[in-house]
Amino acid sequence: MPQTLFEKIWNAHVVAQDADSPAVLYIDLHLVHEVTSPQAFEGLRNRGIKVRRPDRTYATMDHGIPTHSRDIPIADALAAKQIAQLETNTAEFGITLYGLRQNAEKQGIVHVIGPELGLTRPGMTIVCGDSHTSTHGAFGALSFGIGTSEVEMVLSTQCLLQRKPGTAQVRVDGKLQKGVVAKDIILAIIAKYGIGAGTGYVFEYTGEAIRILNMEERMTVCNMSIEGGARAGMIAPDDTTFEYIAGREFAPKGANWDKAVSEWRKLPTDDGATFDATFSLDADTLEPMITYGTNPGMGTGVTGRVPDPAQLADLSQRNALIKALGYMNLKPNQPLLGQAIDVVFIGSCTNSRISDLRDAAAVMKGRRVNPNVRVMIVPGSAQVKREAEAEGLDRVFSEAGAEWREAGCSMCIAMNGDQLQPGQYAISTSNRNFEGRQGKGGRTFLASPLTAAASAITGVVTDVRTMLR
Ligand code: SF4
Repeated sequence: MPQTLFEKIWNAHVVAQDADSPAVLYIDLHLVHEVTSPQAFEGLRNRGIKVRRPDRTYATMDHGIPTHSRDIPIADALAAKQIAQLETNTAEFGITLYGLRQNAEKQGIVHVIGPELGLTRPGMTIVCGDSHTSTHGAFGALSFGIGTSEVEMVLSTQCLLQRKPGTAQVRVDGKLQKGVVAKDIILAIIAKYGIGAGTGYVFEYTGEAIRILNMEERMTVCNMSIEGGARAGMIAPDDTTFEYIAGREFAPKGANWDKAVSEWRKLPTDDGATFDATFSLDADTLEPMITYGTNPGMGTGVTGRVPDPAQLADLSQRNALIKALGYMNLKPNQPLLGQAIDVVFIGSCTNSRISDLRDAAAVMKGRRVNPNVRVMIVPGSAQVKREAEAEGLDRVFSEAGAEWREAGCSMCIAMNGDQLQPGQYAISTSNRNFEGRQGKGGRTFLASPLTAAASAITGVVTDVRTMLR
């Protein structure tokens, strides 16, 4: 029987399956961070058991760490406690930690360092106590977020109880225009189909506009699968994937590499395999995207206008839009171009890799950011930071008047000291624009690094295509 990419990985990892019960799924890689792991380690300690496979478990700290400086004590008491606990837990249970003091040169956002270190590889099952674990699906892995009790289950057994999801093909054909990038693809998919369209499915992204993306762009697309409701997002591995992995620290070497690649080449969906659902998008007609509301599906092309709730026939959708526009203090039918902003955040596990920073620097080079706007550039990992500095990107940002920070989640989530003030507007390259996500009362427009950088210069929502050299 022809099989999809998802089915091949799923079938290869089912340890046991009874009718009407969740499958017992073997997990190849478990990534751990400071926020969702403390109770799980405590559970192990209370039961007097060890981590089943410490060699398949890696930890980093990202959500709560300050990004303005590594030299001062962590001010937030909860963050300081979680970070100290992760240091204690990883030492006690024999897990490699990429932290502020241990292996600090490899610390970073969990979904940035996994691929960067070569831990993330095709055909794997990967979990982490974080929603955006879908990022790793860009490598043709089955990867998804799990809850704290599931973190304990995987730590103790290296397995997870899981019901088999359906499969949905998300086909993106055509070619992106200049100024339109991977972030715009995924924002457009979610705007077109809504935040619930993927419920019950694993997305597999296909089509020529996907195949042409580099690995960092593919990660951006897969990262936001969860925002479209999907359990995970995947892209079939190909030569682009293999070139990215080759030579990385944990990548197979020598004869093992050849063997691995020949196995990975068998993973793409077979001709004749069927999906449970299909969604599609035409890349030719896409423009840079921006959100206007309080979920990632409330988005439109940057030259568009805020929609009018009166035009929505569905009462619950109309009420949701009225509430969102009230929170955002936006009026129906107002253009988004020209909307004043207070903060620009370029970072997060969606858009903090070197290619994202290069995009932003290309726009900001030789220009000054608007004096009314605070601009934060936050690399996704210590390694990305070093690479950017070696290329001189940090100087481009600093000379433009932007803040160049240390690696971490930063203003993606208001739990580390980087946050919006009530009423402030931000353009953010992160993945969530929920009420209060970037700070109580803060208002978030999600966009690509190109759109964010262009808006940093002008101080208002801007169409980057007007500024590209
Ligand atoms: S950058 Fe944001 S979405 Fe990504 S792992 Fe950190 S807090 Fe979660």
